[in-house]
Amino acid sequence: MRAAEPSGLLVDSIRACGLKVTAPRLAVLRVLDLAPHSTAERLLAMVRAELPGTSLQAVYGVLAAFTGAGIARKIEPAGSPALFERRVGDNHHHIVCTRCSAVHDVDCAVGESPCLTPSNTAGFTVRTAEVTYWGLCPDCQTATLSTLSAPAPLSNKGAR
Ligand SMILES: [Zn+2]
Ligand SMILES: [Zn+2]
Repeated sequence: MRAAEPSGLLVDSIRACGLKVTAPRLAVLRVLDLAPHSTAERLLAMVRAELPGTSLQAVYGVLAAFTGAGIARKIEPAGSPALFERRVGDNHHHIVCTRCSAVHDVDCAVGESPCLTPSNTAGFTVRTAEVTYWGLCPDCQTATLSTLSAPAPLSNKGAR
């Protein structure tokens, strides 16, 4: 976890996208910075440490304003509630753990990626491509391996 961004910079980024600075907006932006790829519920829990009376509705309102103004991005991996992050405008992708739902950024799809080149754009000009990679995170790989390689129960044959 990184150190919190100074409030001045947060205020600047809210103003820069034409939004009015309010205490809930400031608080949501701060926690979004500390905990990228969070659900509104998780952000709410963090915001409440600072602004105890905050409602989930208020957090959703702030997030809608942020995504509308382009200072936050909403990602919706299949089967997961919407996740929010501050990293915007760089068309990065995500890798999601199918076991524990951990999410990480993937800067770029590289190499042979035939499915990133649309075979038919129906006349559209393509501006972004969003890829979600699915797999097992390192922790879950370790957990899965240790289950698989756990010693088989000793048989009693010849054991006495
Ligand atoms: Zn995992
Ligand atoms: Zn991301």
